[in-house]
Amino acid sequence: MWFPVIIVSTCILALQEVTAAALASDPAVLLLQEYVQINTTSNNNLTPAVAFWKKLADAEGLPFNVVELNQGYPIVVIKWAGSNSSISSIMLNSHMDVVPAKQEDGWKFPPFSAHIENGVMYGRGTQDMKSVSIQYYEALRRLKANGVTLLRDVYMTLMPDEELGAEKGMIPFLQSEEFAKLNVGVELDEGTSYDIPSIPLFYQDKVVWQIEVTCHGVAAHGSTFPPNSATATGKCANVINRFLKFRDEEYAKYTKAGITDAGPYTSVNLNRINGGVANNVIPASVSLTFDIRLGTSVNEEEFEARV
Ligand SMILES: [Zn+2]
Repeated sequence: MWFPVIIVSTCILALQEVTAAALASDPAVLLLQEYVQINTTSNNNLTPAVAFWKKLADAEGLPFNVVELNQGYPIVVIKWAGSNSSISSIMLNSHMDVVPAKQEDGWKFPPFSAHIENGVMYGRGTQDMKSVSIQYYEALRRLKANGVTLLRDVYMTLMPDEELGAEKGMIPFLQSEEFAKLNVGVELDEGTSYDIPSIPLFYQDKVVWQIEVTCHGVAAHGSTFPPNSATATGKCANVINRFLKFRDEEYAKYTKAGITDAGPYTSVNLNRINGGVANNVIPASVSLTFDIRLGTSVNEEEFEARV
């Protein structure tokens, strides 16, 4: 999730509890399974995913459009017409691409098998965010099947390249004539997944700060013994300890916040440690990358000063 939409909840949609057996044969679940089985790892050819959506649009007789602002990065737009196309529309966005997954990374079942066992589907993209795309489609399909025509046009948009920063997907799309023509009044986008029978809706983003700290120290043979204060790793240990102490403070807020309230705490994760040239060399530098998502009431200047 590169542009996360982790946020503060406004309301909860209650869902029906269903049994694992019923889930496994639910047409919507089977549709998700089929979609997850298409390996849409970022930079893969998305043609099969586009064909998947074309098939679903055709089944409902919906206008289907592919906008390709960068070659090989199709943006799918499916229109569910409302009764008044002159007023602003609703855009339901999701992304087709997924982050890489390999069996050897500890998957219980192959990551693109979408295997279902005991009510759980195993697959890359089940959470981020193919399930949401199928939820949009199913909700609209069922409204249509029940003879409901909404006032506003609803557009389902399906993006490429989200996991790599959206430079070839959403970012140019927002500047395009094709997007302007949609006359979007409100958009629903990516949230997060919960293993509770409800869907929290969010209205606010957390700001993402990904910072890299590089510590420099003496470079020397591994048989020498400089103090921690002089080595890159010793300095990094100090940085790590202070960030993790802050993390503990925020974690305490997180545990009190409740499952659907993501606003009050700042999350901090140390996700990369890079450095070293050989087993017997004290490295001249080591770098740390922290992925930080600011609490919604955090003052950025104050936080930067603290960092
Ligand atoms: Zn995502």
